Amino acid sequence: MEKSVLIVYTGGTIGMKTNPETGSLAPFNFEQIETEVPELKKLGIKVDTYSFHPVIDSSNVTPEQWGVLARIIKERYHGYDGFVILHGTDTMSYTASAFSFMMQNLDKPVIFTGSQIPIGILRTDGKENLITAIEIAAAKRDGKAVVPEVCIYFENTLFRANRTVKANADHFNAFRSYNYPPLAEAGIDIHYNDNFIRKVDAFLPSFDVVTCLCCDVQIIRLFPGLSESMLHAILHVPELKGVVLETYGSGNAPVYPWFLRELENAVKRGIVVLNVTQCPTGTVNMDIYDTGRVLQNIGVISGRDMTTEAAVTKLMYLLGGAFTEKQIAEQLRTSIRGEQS
Ligand code: ASP
Repeated sequence: MEKSVLIVYTGGTIGMKTNPETGSLAPFNFEQIETEVPELKKLGIKVDTYSFHPVIDSSNVTPEQWGVLARIIKERYHGYDGFVILHGTDTMSYTASAFSFMMQNLDKPVIFTGSQIPIGILRTDGKENLITAIEIAAAKRDGKAVVPEVCIYFENTLFRANRTVKANADHFNAFRSYNYPPLAEAGIDIHYNDNFIRKVDAFLPSFDVVTCLCCDVQIIRLFPGLSESMLHAILHVPELKGVVLETYGSGNAPVYPWFLRELENAVKRGIVVLNVTQCPTGTVNMDIYDTGRVLQNIGVISGRDMTTEAAVTKLMYLLGGAFTEKQIAEQLRTSIRGEQS
């Protein structure tokens, strides 16, 4: 039976071409993707497209749009072998990380990709990204999806989405997964690193999506000079429910009394504080230094080696769900979608 993939185009550079009248870049009608990428016809995969109207630059994406996107997948889930989501690169790691938590009991590939140069420009990286992403989305072994995960495919590499960060604004290899190996590498063949790809539970309940996310969260990045009044103001925003605290090194923070008092009071008021490191590589370990241990003692939770993108979207997902405080803390300490080691 012919395999089938749905491409959902949300916007971003990939779907643009030069407007001959103005000379500037503008989105093209994605329903005509086969005119722009005639190679698609040769794939032997049935490709359908769905386009956002209007398309968005990903800097404008909102959690409401993540919900719209998730519902598009849910409504069409049983009609396709896999899904490719075309998205701007700027916030792709946020959207794809959020998606990894929103998708429940996923057993098909959901592959995000985009490009640094529009598909309508000669030197585009978009064609390779799109064609290989479609191949990966359709890939099956023994009737089962080879990569039943939310991923980002970019410049020859397939990553687990919730491990990625956009690390380069100029080069084609825009994404990195510093703390988890690639799931696949595309050279002459596509080589899948099966040991690192999620295994699907044989008794998985049916697929569903969660679209209720809580946005009452904040990312606080420590820097020498962060003042008491600033920290106090952020932590006293009335609706605040969760904080991703970007600390130094292996999860360290200053031990000034005012700093610890502010954080401790926030935790006592029920605000969840999750500790991730500012270092791109490595993990939080609050046992190593006094400056880490004090955080642990006041109830700050270790985010281990999670990216900020994964940490903030995991908080949004957990705080938006019907979980008790204890369940939220437990799930933050556990890898629920392979987002932490
Ligand atoms: N600003 C664009 C976006 O993120 C850049 C891109 O598509 O790569 O939508």
